[in-house]
Amino acid sequence: MIKLFNRFILFFIPHLPLFFIRLVAGRYVAGETCEEAFEVIRKLNSKGFSTTLDILGEHTRSKDTAFMITQKYCELFEAIRRRKLDCNISVKPSHIGLDLGEQILRENLLKLVSKASLSDNFLRIDMENSKTTDITLKLSDECLAKYDRVGTVLQAYLFRTAEDLKKRVGPKLNIRLCKGIYRESPEIAIQDRREINQNYLKVLRYLFEHEGYVGIATHDLLLLKDCLHLIRELQVPNDRFEFQVLYGVPMSGWLEKLIGMKYKVRVYVPFGPEWYAYSIRRLQENPNIAGYILNNLFRRA
Ligand SMILES: Cc1cc2nc3c(=O)[nH]c(=O)nc-3n(C[C@H](O)[C@H](O)[C@H](O)COP(=O)(O)OP(=O)(O)OC[C@H]3O[C@@H](n4cnc5c(N)ncnc54)[C@H](O)[C@@H]3O)c2cc1C
Repeated sequence: MIKLFNRFILFFIPHLPLFFIRLVAGRYVAGETCEEAFEVIRKLNSKGFSTTLDILGEHTRSKDTAFMITQKYCELFEAIRRRKLDCNISVKPSHIGLDLGEQILRENLLKLVSKASLSDNFLRIDMENSKTTDITLKLSDECLAKYDRVGTVLQAYLFRTAEDLKKRVGPKLNIRLCKGIYRESPEIAIQDRREINQNYLKVLRYLFEHEGYVGIATHDLLLLKDCLHLIRELQVPNDRFEFQVLYGVPMSGWLEKLIGMKYKVRVYVPFGPEWYAYSIRRLQENPNIAGYILNNLFRRA
């Protein structure tokens, strides 16, 4: 039934009415301008949440644009510092030049990480599809060799992730662990949802038993509870991890519960004028999102 619905969505995506795309965007995007996003962040901070800010956009096609976007991110670091917000920055490699070659991406990443250091802040390098895993990890390692305030993402659905982690555990490691959002083939990625969760917990346990900091990024309440069990079992101190969620995704009161338990919870806040293209791409990459939205709409109704 779900597969049939997804095929239906994929077929109709180019013809979806604007109001539906606005529904996708409206709930999950914190506005078009940075002032709108700062307002959302201020509110989240006042409720005890940390945040990470992302300018929507990916697959930048010109060197000048990639440079300009890097510059915008640098200005965001400044603005966050001036406003004293509890907010770091997440960036997609393809937004700042991944498609234009390794050297352009390297220059832009180093500029951002240096700015993060100067601003006493942190840069998270998001992970895109599996074609980009090697280059993203390589450049993230290079950045980490020069600066402390940087980390990337590992995806629990990839078979390679346990090995990628083993090569990197150490006191400077700061990883976001998520399931992975892109559609990947069975040759390289686990397809079964239960097995993805098992791998998630296996990787998380390894990290906890070694060194490093982890952002536990999931909305899956069963997985979240298993992570909490693991934290208690291993008596992991609170300064080794935080929980991370996407802005707007309903969590049945669990976020407030986590804050009440004195855990750090960081909300990923995307904003920017590219909300339309972003929402369309998200739907094409994962038609389940349309299902989530309809489901949430009906539940709210
Ligand atoms: C802070 C954060 C950063 C992320 N960064 C990356 C990254 O860099 N690279 C990457 O590949 N993936 C990233 N992801 C996405 C992640 O890989 C998963 O695809 C996504 O979180 C869905 O998996 P889940 O663990 O939430 O569990 P699921 O079992 O897939 O979802 C649990 C429930 O959460 C809700 N839900 C989940 N996702 C959404 C959504 N997008 N919109 C609305 N409702 C939703 C649904 O109700 C669903 O039933 C990130 C996720 C988070 C929370």
